[in-house]
Amino acid sequence: MPKPIPVPDQLSKPFWDACNERRLVVQNCTACNRKQYPPQQTCAACGSAAHLEWRQVKGRGHILSYLVIRDSRLRPVQADQPINMALITLDEEPQLNFLSNLPGTPVNKVTVGAAVEVVFDRVSPTQLIHEWRVVG
Ligand SMILES: [Zn+2]
Repeated sequence: MPKPIPVPDQLSKPFWDACNERRLVVQNCTACNRKQYPPQQTCAACGSAAHLEWRQVKGRGHILSYLVIRDSRLRPVQADQPINMALITLDEEPQLNFLSNLPGTPVNKVTVGAAVEVVFDRVSPTQLIHEWRVVG
């Protein structure tokens, strides 16, 4: 499936730059010691913009839930339907979730609770993106 190529902006550029170094980073608020993803201009808990920094996470998680997309209106997706859409929970920060198509896992073969790890796929000559694969 052709994957969307991110267009980094001022807010998301550090995230995408880290992907290019095969590192997964999330925002960390040093005022309230809370992490958040996806990137936001301010901390969703305390509202601070000045205390947000980037922190690397291990990139291990598990499948919290999933659904199968069979009738997407997004044209690039249609040719490959049905596709998985899984909700990934980060093991070290369970309040953080990511979405994944679970490359390598056939539709209807998704196991809720299965362990996953982040991998990085090249979507353009200059950009890697994060994806999640089932471990083992
Ligand atoms: Zn905060």
